[in-house]
Amino acid sequence: MSLPAATAYDLVVVGSGPTGSAYVREVYEQHPTASILLLDAGPRLTERPGTHVKNIPDPDARARARRDSEGPGPAGRPGTRLLGSPELPAAALSTNVGGMGAHWTGACPRPGDGERVGFVPGAELDAHLARAEELLHVDAHAFDRAPFADEVRRRLSALFDPGRPAHRRVAPMPLAVTTRRDGAHAWSGTDVVLGRAAADARVEIADRCLALRVVLDGDTATGVVVRDLVTGEERSVAARAVVVAADALRTPQLLHASGIRPPALGRYLNDQPQIVYAVRLPDDIVAAHRATTGRTRDEDGAIVPQSGVSWVPYTEAHPFHGQVMQLDASPVPLAGGTGVEPGAVVGLGWFCAKDISPDDRVEFTDGEFDAYGLPAPRIRYRYSDRDLATIEQAKKAVTEAGAGIGIPLDDGPVLLPAGSSLHYQGTTRMGPADDGTSVCDSHSRVWNIRGLWVAGNNVIPTATACNPTLTSVALAVRGARALLDHLNATAGRSTRAARAGTGTA
Ligand code: FAD
Repeated sequence: MSLPAATAYDLVVVGSGPTGSAYVREVYEQHPTASILLLDAGPRLTERPGTHVKNIPDPDARARARRDSEGPGPAGRPGTRLLGSPELPAAALSTNVGGMGAHWTGACPRPGDGERVGFVPGAELDAHLARAEELLHVDAHAFDRAPFADEVRRRLSALFDPGRPAHRRVAPMPLAVTTRRDGAHAWSGTDVVLGRAAADARVEIADRCLALRVVLDGDTATGVVVRDLVTGEERSVAARAVVVAADALRTPQLLHASGIRPPALGRYLNDQPQIVYAVRLPDDIVAAHRATTGRTRDEDGAIVPQSGVSWVPYTEAHPFHGQVMQLDASPVPLAGGTGVEPGAVVGLGWFCAKDISPDDRVEFTDGEFDAYGLPAPRIRYRYSDRDLATIEQAKKAVTEAGAGIGIPLDDGPVLLPAGSSLHYQGTTRMGPADDGTSVCDSHSRVWNIRGLWVAGNNVIPTATACNPTLTSVALAVRGARALLDHLNATAGRSTRAARAGTGTA
C-alpha cells in the first residue's frame, strides 16, 4: 500500500522504526478509538510488518529484504545505505518498514549515571525504561547456555566490578529477543513493538510513502503532505497530532523542509566512537570446560553472533560501554590454522560518550536535494581534544579487558570510522527549557508548535555510550503519554476540522 486510504487521522506517525512504532502501540492501546496512520518511505519487507530480517528463514529472501532496505546510494552494513559524508564516513540509514529495527543487534542496556536524562524524574524514567523493555521483549538470559559465557563474565567481573553498585556490574547483555519453546530465538523487530496494533483496522501502515513536509496552521501541526513513491502522486493528510520518527538525520530534515527551524535543529549530533579488539580464551580454560561440562564441541553447538553477549556498563569511573560478544569463528586467521572452539573467540567493542558540541551537526541548504527530493543533508563533525583523550583511555581499558580474558588476536585495539556505531543522537534533542539548545521538551513536544512530536535517538540530550534504542523507546513511551493527553484535550476537534486546516499538496 502506498498512498493512505483516508485523508484524515487522529495521529500520523512518520517513520516505522522502534520509536515511531512505540507511539503507535501506546496510543492504540490507551485510546479506544484513535485512528492512526504509520507511514514509511521504504518498502514492507515481510507479510507481518516490521519483522526482523534475521527471522526470515530463507537465506535468499533474507538477503533480498536487506537489499530492499538500502534505498538509493552506496550500501553500508547489510540493510543500510551510506549517507556519503566525508566527516562521518560510516553514517548509514535504513529505509524500510521497521527501519533499522528490522536489522539491529537488539542490545538494550539501561543508561546509567551521566547517560540518563537528568531533568526527567528518575522514577518516571525507570518506569518508561521498564515499559520499553516490555515493548521490545528484552531478555537478559536468552543465551545463558552459550559456551564460556560464564567464564568470560567471571574474568570481566574480576577486573571491573570492584567498587561498582550491584546494578552496574558486569552482566549478561539485555537483548531484544524471545526464546521460543523449541529453543530457537526470534529477534524483536517492530512487529513486536506494534503487537496487535499492526493487525487492527484502526491502524494503517502505508509503505513507500514519503512525508514531504508537516503542514502547519499558524503554530499548530495539522497534518503531513505525502508522496506515493511508486506513482509519484501527492496528497495532504490531516491529523490532530503528528510524530516525526524518521531517524536522527531525516527527522531534522523533515522539520527543515516544513519550515520548522529552531536554532538547535540538527545540532549536537553525536555518535559513539567505537573501538574493537579480539582475543581468545586460553587453551587450558577450553580444556577445563570440556572436562567439567562433559560436553563435546559438537554438543555445545554452533553459536549465533550474539551468543554470550556480555555487558560492562558505563559508570562515571569507567565512562565507556563495553559490549563483549563470543564468536564461533575467529575474525583473523589463527596461528597454525588453530581450530576455533565456538565461544572461545571473544570480540570486544568499547563505545565512548562523545564530547557534545553544537558545531557537530547535520545541516541543510535550501535548493540542494537528496535522492528523495528532500533537502540534502551535510554533516559537520569532528573529534575534540577531549574525544581524542577519551578514545585513548578506551583503548587502554579494552586492552586491559582483553588481557584479563585471554590471548590477543589483534596487534591492538582499532578505532572504527566515525559513524560506525549507527547510534546517531541529539539532532532534535529534548531540554528542560526553550533556551535555544533544544528542539523539544521532556515529553518530546516540539517547542512552540502544538500537535507535533519528535522521536528517535535524536531526542536524547545526553552523551550516551550505551546502545540508545531502549532509551529512545522509553522517551517515546513518555511522549505518548503527553500525546494521549493532547488527543483527549482536543477530543471535540474532529479530524474533519483538522482537515480544514490542511492545504492541498
Ligand atoms: P529507524 O529505525 O532508523 O527508522 C526510521 C524510519 O523512518 C526508516 O524506516 C525510514 O525509512 C523512515 N523515514 C525517514 N524519513 C522519512 C520520510 N520523510 N517519510 C517517511 N518515512 C521516513 N541499537 C541499539 O540500541 N542496540 C543495538 O544492538 C543496535 N544494533 C544495530 C545493528 C545494526 C546492524 C543496525 C543497522 C542498527 C543497530 N542499532 C542498535 C540502531 C537501532 O536500530 C536504531 O537506534 C533504531 O532503529 C532507531 O529507531 P528509530 O525509530 O528512531 O529510527
